[in-house]
Formats: sequence, C-alpha cells, structure tokens
Amino acid sequence: MTALPTDVSPLAVIGASRRAASDGAVLPTINPATGTVLAELPACGAVEIDEAVSVARARFEAGSWRDMAPRQRKAVMLRVADGLAARAEDFALLETLESGKPISDTRAVDVPLALNTLRYYAEAIDKIHGEVGPSGPDRLSWAVHDPLGVIGAIVPWNFPLHMAMWKIAPAIAMGNSVVVKPSELTSLTTLHFAAVALEAGLPEGVLNIVPGTGALAGSALARHNDVDMITFTGSGPVGRQLMHDAADSNLKRVSLELGGKSPHIVFADYPDLDRVAEAAAWGIFYNQGQVCTAGSRLLVERSIHADFVARLVKVAETIRPGNPLDPATRLGAVISEKQMNGVLHRIAGAQREGADLILGGRQALKESGGFFLEPTIFDHVAPTSALAREEVFGPVLAVIPFDTPEEALHLANDTEYGLASGLWTGSMALANRFARQLRAGLVWINGWDACDITMPFGGFKQSGFGRDRSLHALYKYADLKSISVSFPQ
Ligand code: NAD
Repeated sequence: MTALPTDVSPLAVIGASRRAASDGAVLPTINPATGTVLAELPACGAVEIDEAVSVARARFEAGSWRDMAPRQRKAVMLRVADGLAARAEDFALLETLESGKPISDTRAVDVPLALNTLRYYAEAIDKIHGEVGPSGPDRLSWAVHDPLGVIGAIVPWNFPLHMAMWKIAPAIAMGNSVVVKPSELTSLTTLHFAAVALEAGLPEGVLNIVPGTGALAGSALARHNDVDMITFTGSGPVGRQLMHDAADSNLKRVSLELGGKSPHIVFADYPDLDRVAEAAAWGIFYNQGQVCTAGSRLLVERSIHADFVARLVKVAETIRPGNPLDPATRLGAVISEKQMNGVLHRIAGAQREGADLILGGRQALKESGGFFLEPTIFDHVAPTSALAREEVFGPVLAVIPFDTPEEALHLANDTEYGLASGLWTGSMALANRFARQLRAGLVWINGWDACDITMPFGGFKQSGFGRDRSLHALYKYADLKSISVSFPQ
C-alpha cells in the first residue's frame, strides 16, 4: 500500500466525527498510475447516509448557519478557502495519487479552480438580494431566496475536488447543509477538504462526506425522504435512475450534468490553423479525455481536411503518457483498469466500423502496472457510427470532414447530447449564426473551453439540466418565498 502524503484520513465525515462503516466494510482506492492500493475507504451505506442526513438536517433546523449574518458566513467560507490554499500542495499531490492526473494539472488547474470556486461563492453571500413586489398601499410584498435544506451531492471521479466544490460552495453559501457522496474511486481529497473546513471553523454538520459505492451510499442518498435536492455530475444512466429515485421518494429536486459528445468545428477561413490544431488536440486529450466537455467530434471543412489533420497529428505526437508525479508529464493515467479496458473496447469497435486509425490506439506504459492509453485519433469517422455518437470518456478523437456550413451545423446538432460546442472561423457573421443555432449549453468561438466560474455551465437535451457555476448555481439551491404584510386602510 502506498503511504498517503499527509495527515489524510479515509474515514467518513459526519458532523465533527470521523467514522468507519458500521459493518466494518471497506473499499480499496487504487492509484491508477501504479495499480496499487492507496487507501481503504469505509464502504458506507444506508446507515451512515441516514446519520449524515440527520446531522445535516439538525444543523439546518438549528439555523446557526443559514441565519448567520451574511458577512459572518462569508468570513467563515473565506477562512475555509485560506485553509485549502495553505495546503494546496498536499491537495494537488493527493488528487494526482488517486486520479492519475498529472501533478502539473492538479497544481495549476484542479486545486486553484476549486479554491477560486469557493472564494467566488463566499464573496457572493452578501450580494444576494430578494425583490419587492408592486403592491398597492394596503400591502407590502417581497420575495426572498430561501435555502432548500439538505442537499445531496453525488460527484464523479474526473475532477473530484473541483466538481465537489461546484456543488458544495454555492449550496453552503446559500445556507444549506450538504451530504456529499464522492466517487468511490476518488474520495480522499473531498474527505480531506471537509477536515480542513471544520478546522477553519465551518460549523459541524454543514458539510458531511460519506464515501461508498453508488449502488449503496449513492442510492440511499437519492432515495432518502429527508433530502431536499440531489445535485449530480456523472453518467446518463445514473442520471435517469436519480429521477426515478426522486419520484419514488419525496419528489426532491434533481439537477443533472451528464456529459456529451461535443462538436469542435474548424472552418477553412480561420487564419491560424496551428493554433486550432493545438486547441483541438488538448480539447480531447486534456485530463486523458475524461472531460464531460471534451471536443470528441472534430468537424473539419474538407478543403483543409488533409492539411489540418497533419498539423493535428504533429501536435498529438508530442503528447505522451508519463508518470503523473513527474512535473513534465502532461498526459497521465486513466481512472481505472475498467475504464481503460472500456476505452480499448471502443477503439476496437471503431476499427471494426471502418474508421481510419491514424494515431495511437493502444495501452501504454504497461510496465508501470498503471492504466495508460496512447492519444488516439480516428479519421473519416462515419457520423452514424458508435464512435461519433457515444461518449467514450477517454483520449479518443473522431475526425469527420464536412463540405458546407449547413452540413457542419446538421452534424453538430445530430446528437442526443448538448453540453459544449465550438467553432473556429474568420467570419463573425458565421460565428453569430452558429452561436444561435448550436443546441448546446456552451458555445466557444475561436477558443475552446474559454470561460470560467462567472459563466453558467450545463447542458441542453440529454446532457442534463440545471446549471453549475455563476450566480445561477447559487439560486438553484434556494426556493423563492413570497411574503406579504397587509395594512388595513
Ligand atoms: P457514474 O455515473 O456511475 O458515477 C458518478 C457518481 O454517481 C459516483 O459517485 C457513483 O458512485 C454514483 N452512482 C453510481 N450509481 C449510482 C446510483 N444508482 N445512485 C446514486 N449514485 C450512483 O459514472 P462512472 O461509473 O464513474 O463513469 C461511467 C461513465 O460515466 C464514464 O465513462 C463517462 O461516460 C460518464 N461520466 C461522466 C462524467 C461527467 O463529467 N459528466 C463524469 C464521470 C463519468
């Protein structure tokens, strides 16, 4: 077993106590870069979820967090952020060890963005206003944002701390209590964050972390009658199940972010194709391709197709998998052996479907014992093929040539998903038309993934509904309450 880097405990956080599973069950968490066991997590289930929800409910009902003066609540959250900042290097190392991400990414992206998210919502707390209604002289009416109560957050493994923070920070900023069920593959940074938050003065019970499988702990949270909302990022089938669970229990609210098959469109009139090639390569290979907004369908205008693909391959050939702990590594390990084998299975399927494999396609660094894949590019992918339609969630790109803007738009929208989309063009008229007609929650023009915490993030169609990031996410964790006072004349 690899030693953990800091004073990290894998135990659940319920109120202020650290807990093993009541039946003693454990789950190994594996370092994807070596295939060795990093820690044993408690495999919690309905008992621990029930306790965490009770503690969260008690804290909410006591009112000591939700009714704390906004400036004071903000000061507490900013102290929590300072606690995270002070241990940034520990969090980066831990995130790399349990997720296989390059340490250069966890240092420069995952931890700083989690911190930025926390500070953004902390700063928002004393800027939340209600509204005054247009009543006559015999009445005064106003509407306030009332926190929902107990929020269940179910988060994935691809950005463990960052995705958890997208949900924890706005939910607690609004005055709610939260029970997080992290991915069973990557729970340590979220557990460690809760310990840091308690130490920094977040009242016990506001944030509770219950590790365990989706089938036991996740399902118990989703079906719990005293949870007011489930906020989720992950796969489509689980998203559907959560809606059933909400309907079968207490009609809790559900917010879903379910990934995509995002089109990345390159028009011949963009003046700097090397820049686009760099963006297209990192648009799919960043985070080993395990990104819900990955630009996994590259639509290229036919007149530049051969030239552009050559430039793309040149960039992709420089992206080699390596030891995630080496600061020079930019492509790490995929999350698990199961995920790696699933991606290899899809690569084999694409070859059977007749796509041209022009780069990669194999497991890499086998001698490490870890789960590494070569950056992989298929050209001339049929728009009807599985590779063009299904999310792979690995470093696999499908290139599809097109002839006209109309065809590009049709191909881009011909998907059940609608999370991200992007285009490169020298024509602002074309860009404006596509921005209006692309059916996706995010549209990036002349720059892939060019937005931040200030902008809403979420999908159209089967990519889900509800938004993370921005002030819209804050209001998602509240209901509007109308209050009226009458003044008999
Ligand atoms: P998943 O949807 O199974 O897991 C996401 C979270 O949901 C985890 O915390 C998991 O424990 C929990 N969960 C699973 N079953 C549950 C249930 N019945 N009730 C409540 N919670 C449950 O995703 P995965 O297995 O980790 O990955 C599978 C695929 O999902 C990936 O290949 C990818 O396509 C997709 N995915 C998408 C995202 C995204 O950002 N949208 C993130 C991770 C995975």
